[in-house]
Amino acid sequence: MLQTPDAYQEIREAIRSLCAEYPDEYFRKIDEQRAYPESFVDALTQAGWLAAMIPQEYGGSGLGLAEASVIMEEINRNGGNAGACHGQMYNMGTLLRHGSQQQKEFYLPKIATGEWRLQSMGVTEPTTGTDTTKIKTTAVKKGDRYVVNGQKVWISRVKPSDWMILLARTTPLADVKRKSEGMSIFMVDLKKAIGNGLTVRPIPNMVNHETNELFFENLEIPEENLIGQEGMGFKYILDGLNAERTLIAAECIGDGYWFIERVSRYAKDRVVFGRPIGQNQGVQFPIADAYIEVEAANLMRFKACELFDAHQPCGAEANMAKYLAAKASWEAANVCIQYHGGFGFACEYDVERKFRETRLYQVAPVSTNMVYSYIAEHVLGLPRSF
Ligand SMILES: Cc1cc2nc3c(=O)[nH]c(=O)nc-3n(C[C@H](O)[C@H](O)[C@H](O)COP(=O)(O)OP(=O)(O)OC[C@H]3O[C@@H](n4cnc5c(N)ncnc54)[C@H](O)[C@@H]3O)c2cc1C
Repeated sequence: MLQTPDAYQEIREAIRSLCAEYPDEYFRKIDEQRAYPESFVDALTQAGWLAAMIPQEYGGSGLGLAEASVIMEEINRNGGNAGACHGQMYNMGTLLRHGSQQQKEFYLPKIATGEWRLQSMGVTEPTTGTDTTKIKTTAVKKGDRYVVNGQKVWISRVKPSDWMILLARTTPLADVKRKSEGMSIFMVDLKKAIGNGLTVRPIPNMVNHETNELFFENLEIPEENLIGQEGMGFKYILDGLNAERTLIAAECIGDGYWFIERVSRYAKDRVVFGRPIGQNQGVQFPIADAYIEVEAANLMRFKACELFDAHQPCGAEANMAKYLAAKASWEAANVCIQYHGGFGFACEYDVERKFRETRLYQVAPVSTNMVYSYIAEHVLGLPRSF
């Protein structure tokens, strides 16, 4: 047993038994076909897991970030990839925190039942990248609608979603006091928008991550789809990032345990020079090192969850958890592929697939340098560099 039992064993057991229906072969095939794991995501939704953080009054389970993070962790721990569905966990938080009562009643119950999927969030743009306040996509009010023009890139889970949260500039940068002002967020009805002002172009990429370029040409969005106050969108997006970062940290923890378990098992079984390779300290130590790093990252992940669930500031902890967990899972991935020798590269061992999947988290949804920058500026009080 790699992990000491914790307070979440019941959730862990339930997710493990659901995942047992979707073994390695399932995810391997989905990866080969670059397909969306429809039946897996449907099963999770039907069992109510993706509505974990939706309050009970809207049909969810009203659980905290800690429980939600365990759900995501266990998917990755059992060989799957929660990247296919994690958007639903944190995107609905934006609606919950900033939507009107009417919007919450309209969207959340249908998201909870799975009738609607809200997996997608459109922020990143090709010419501005991490410098989000410079986004060029605009939403201009015309009568009772907003008209959207611009371009986004790397926007994930568009095809499998019914709705997307979109960040666009509603007041030109030149007309606002602070660069973080003048952006707004909208609910975009994807099924209506595609072909009517929104064009979606898939980006083939290293992982099986459904991600796209989006082109907006006079896309009309009804004014009632604006979430919260006009001009406050950037703040609303930032409010959701701590949950996103912590959930992704948990997925990396799940990956980390998966890699360590697989490589430990292989190192016990694989006999070379007349003894198991795991008997050599040159093999044992890097595995032990990776395990220690995953365990340490796990503590920071639960610290971030505890603060978030107590409604305390947790920006530093969420960022550090994401940083530590992504680093630990990547180190575990390297060790796992290394000590599988040539077999680490064979698709049937799943190591190469998980290796590719976990690498993403050094870059998205926030890159390592941006975490350093957050800590330097917000925790250490060093001067802003941008
Ligand atoms: C598979 C995938 C899925 C994604 N899904 C989504 C999604 O659903 N929605 C969405 O909005 N976005 C999504 N993204 C975008 C993702 O959030 C960005 O790729 C990420 O934030 C980095 O932005 P960028 O690619 O523009 O890199 P850039 O901003 O161009 O930066 C490139 C590199 O330079 C570094 N860098 C830049 N400026 C500085 C600086 N001042 N100091 C130090 N280092 C710096 C960065 O850290 C980074 O490593 C996705 C990306 C990928 C790859």
